[in-house]
Amino acid sequence: MLTLQDIAITQWSQLTRSEQQATLARPEQSRSAQLKETVRNIIERIKLEGDVALLDYTRQFDCADIEQLVLDDAQKQALLAQVSDRAKAAIDKAYDNIRAFHVAQTPEDITLTTSPGVQCTLKYTALESVGLYIPGGSATLPSTALMLGVPAQIAGCKTRVLVTPPNKQGEMSPEVVYAAEKCGIETLVMCGGAQAVAALAYGTESVPKVDKVFGPGNAFVTEAKQQLSQNDSGISIDMPAGPSELLVLADDTANPRFVAADLLSQAEHGPDSQVILVTPSAAVASAVQAELVTQCNALPRIDIARQALASSRLIVTQSLAEAVAVTQRYAPEHLAVQTEDAAELSAQLTTAGSIFVGHYTPESGGDYATGTNHVLPTYGYAKNYSSLGLLDFYRRYTLQEVTREGLAELAESITTLADIEGLDAHKRAVTIRLEAQEGNS
Ligand code: NAD
Repeated sequence: MLTLQDIAITQWSQLTRSEQQATLARPEQSRSAQLKETVRNIIERIKLEGDVALLDYTRQFDCADIEQLVLDDAQKQALLAQVSDRAKAAIDKAYDNIRAFHVAQTPEDITLTTSPGVQCTLKYTALESVGLYIPGGSATLPSTALMLGVPAQIAGCKTRVLVTPPNKQGEMSPEVVYAAEKCGIETLVMCGGAQAVAALAYGTESVPKVDKVFGPGNAFVTEAKQQLSQNDSGISIDMPAGPSELLVLADDTANPRFVAADLLSQAEHGPDSQVILVTPSAAVASAVQAELVTQCNALPRIDIARQALASSRLIVTQSLAEAVAVTQRYAPEHLAVQTEDAAELSAQLTTAGSIFVGHYTPESGGDYATGTNHVLPTYGYAKNYSSLGLLDFYRRYTLQEVTREGLAELAESITTLADIEGLDAHKRAVTIRLEAQEGNS
């Protein structure tokens, strides 16, 4: 049971600088030394023991006694037969919108003559092999399978491996399997947590090694992605996409019932989620506080939401401008702008993973079906990481082609810079060519 005392209202201007910093801090999580050590040990064991360790960890953490990690065709067909028409229609609709918005992001190569006889090209090529982590500890997330699977499919990544923890009966979610089928993902693996990320990074007997790992997850998953992207596995990762966050920026035109519903929609994701209201209206803050209590107590996932609300904040500022400044500083994963001039105000809000503009744009719209990607940077990384998009499934590289005349034109610039840097061989690679008779070596 949640009570008003569980959710405090904070007057921003009455806080000291350090209190303000503490107010905007994320709940204590992945940085603890113990978590790092746990993840390091899991990675090491997967590297040494492969499938044996993967099956062992799956038994230990997911309580599933499975003997086979990768779904075979018969298992897939049996699971697909369980998907209702209603679920299929919902997934189909979301798939269409996500696909349309991501196809529109298809990059085009650029070729440019920078000076006579000098041609430069920027080329995009799809990543060869990608691993897609679909969280599965506390909820089944077919929506995340679409958010990762659709762009990987559009880009044309040849090897696409989906990993997700099985349920206690040792089965994958039928809806995740349906979403994966739509995205043409063939390899579906039942494992989760740090061990699944390690399996993708190093490869095991049954899990193919990939070049890049995508997807959100809890603190163990996020920590594993970060450790593996810095060690000898050679993988890269999309971003630190950890526990969900939502900040609602509201003025006195906001509907407290809508605001509370949005805050709870993220609070129910996990106990480590964080939700924040920032408003210049004390009346809105009080009304949202009361609504949170009413709505939270009616939720099936009340226990998770209540734990998340322990690190929620209702912040009252002195002005809308101050509310904007607090929002920019927090850099939320999701930002809902519920103000009179929401579209205009959003132009000032640049440090968020995804912005939900206006009273009728619920955050859950973007979670599922508007078409935008819901894999977004958390922990304040929205200041320097982008939200996931089609481009993340490509790498870009450059080509240049220079004619003899082009080289003659560039020579002065190249040789002077080589002199400044004291790199004689660099200089000679130019002069040796220009001194040679055309066509001679
Ligand atoms: P998960 O799949 O991320 O984690 C489950 C796994 O954690 C288990 O399989 C287990 O292997 C591992 N684990 C659990 N306890 C452990 C322990 N004590 N030691 C070692 N490993 C352990 O699923 P989840 O836990 O439900 O978390 C999903 C997370 O993803 C939530 O925090 C949610 O907010 C977040 N999320 C983020 C986004 C985003 O875009 N940022 C989107 C969706 C979900």
